[in-house]
Amino acid sequence: MIKENLIEVQNKIAQACERSGRNREDVTLIAVSKTKPISYIEEAISSGQKEFGENKAQEMKEKYETLTKDLNWHFIGHLQTNKVKYVVGRASLIHSVDSLHLAQAIEKESAKKELVTNILIEVNVAQEESKFGLKSEETEKLVREIATLPHVKIQGLMTIAPYVEDPEENRTIFRHLKKLSVDIAAKNIDNVSMSILSMGMTNDYEVAVEEGASHVRVGTAIFGERDYSI
Ligand SMILES: *Cc1c(COP(=O)(O)O)cnc(C)c1O
Repeated sequence: MIKENLIEVQNKIAQACERSGRNREDVTLIAVSKTKPISYIEEAISSGQKEFGENKAQEMKEKYETLTKDLNWHFIGHLQTNKVKYVVGRASLIHSVDSLHLAQAIEKESAKKELVTNILIEVNVAQEESKFGLKSEETEKLVREIATLPHVKIQGLMTIAPYVEDPEENRTIFRHLKKLSVDIAAKNIDNVSMSILSMGMTNDYEVAVEEGASHVRVGTAIFGERDYSI
């Protein structure tokens, strides 16, 4: 089932690329495996999937330790500073940095481990829905502050759009994030890249691709509904 689901999502991404005149190679599919067992991830790996997303630090660490090292892990959840040690050195990209305080904790752990950690700034474009992420107007200031940290590298922006019946409703949110990323890129800030745009989930990833997503984070459409009762 997971194999068929992956093929279907890949096809829809390819079609969205075609509709919007984009190259398929410019969009990376992250399979969001949070709450799902190792066996599901192994099935996805056997279908060629290498990018996985998790939102809990310890869960990501356990899955990282258990599975082949030939994978890229994306940390997509809210990260507390006391959990940074589990994620730095394991996640190839942390999508959810929304404060200088968190970036400083990542800097400290990365310096200790002698590596540079790739991060995205989480912007709460839709405001009312999510508790996390910063306002668009605050983004450039935070980018400039984090840019001074030598063991942290900003690679772009991320947003979580609200769940909506009609994914078209999120198009303006994705367009807004894309514009913000282009505007910040134009400032040519040292140590800052705006090459990654992480947006789009099961319900709206096709619209996100049409609006310029470089990374889509898809869970349910690949692994099925999550069961939080167990
Ligand atoms: C769970 C989650 C996803 C995947 O959501 P689906 O609707 O299952 O595709 C994507 N991004 C973030 C930040 C998530 O927490």
